[in-house]
Amino acid sequence: HRAKEDRNSYVMFSRAIYGNRKEIVQIETHLRHAINKNELFLMYQPKINAKTKKIVGVEALLRWNSEKLGFISPEKFIKVAEKSSIINDIGEFVIKESQKDILDVWRETNSKFELSVNVSPRQLSSIKEMNRFKKIILNSNFPNDKFIIEITENIFVGDVKRIILFLNTIKSYHISISLDDFGTGYSSLSILSKLPISELKIDKSFIHNMFLNEENMKLVKSIINIGKDINLKVVAEGLEEQKELDLLQSFGCDIYQGYYFSKPLSKEELISYIKTRH
Ligand code: C2E
Ligand code: MG
Ligand code: MG
Ligand code: MG
Repeated sequence: HRAKEDRNSYVMFSRAIYGNRKEIVQIETHLRHAINKNELFLMYQPKINAKTKKIVGVEALLRWNSEKLGFISPEKFIKVAEKSSIINDIGEFVIKESQKDILDVWRETNSKFELSVNVSPRQLSSIKEMNRFKKIILNSNFPNDKFIIEITENIFVGDVKRIILFLNTIKSYHISISLDDFGTGYSSLSILSKLPISELKIDKSFIHNMFLNEENMKLVKSIINIGKDINLKVVAEGLEEQKELDLLQSFGCDIYQGYYFSKPLSKEELISYIKTRH
């Protein structure tokens, strides 16, 4: 009986792995053609200043509607893309497309706000990729001082010295750097003084757990205080409820990004969102 159980669980285990690997290969195969087939597109989630109630910026979030595989979440396909050079083509697409879109939105709404894009460690991992990144920026007519790149603590998997040097170069172009998903990685607080960042995004898992767990609430409060003490803008990610907003405001957090204010929006939806608010 025992042996049979073991065999069954072995079969299930290997099937899970096989299924996974097959899925990864499928994703990789189709992702290679996704850009040319126009299957990738961007949504924009507003970042709101709770005091003025205005949009201070938007984050570009990538979407993939695959003809063959259907809708695949970015968490899944970005991970696959990061394991190959596909991420560099995707990264270029995201920067160019989002800057073009937001220039249109500014014009349509007669407003100006910041644009944030997520940048994967792999996009900053070699001299070649860094040069490619620089070239995109230097050839674009989007104002650098309205452009923010979001990195995570994961960039420390690469050559740390070189990455810090490159981030400083980016900063010298007046592009800002934001530290995303703060608190979920393995790095220490010293990361905050090592990196030339101007913004901290508290990961949504902390925001969601504030009322479940008092330690979490205290952590969020402390992160906000530390951030403000060293002159960083602090963004609360994943804000969904009024009571979270009330608490975070009492902690002095000033920028919010979450479903409470808005889900990620298409370019057209963003235009009407701004028009009805301003
Ligand atoms: P992220 O950069 O931390 O983006 C925030 C994620 O939180 C987004 O998920 C957003 O839709 C979600 N979110 C925002 N507000 C709420 C809320 O109130 N509740 C909940 N439950 N979720 C909320 P999304 O769009 O699925 O993206 C997931 C991750 O995929 C991103 O996390 C980012 O790491 C990555 N990603 C997305 N687009 C790109 C891209 O263009 N390039 C790269 N390298 N990574 C990207
Ligand atoms: Mg982000
Ligand atoms: Mg995040
Ligand atoms: Mg993330």
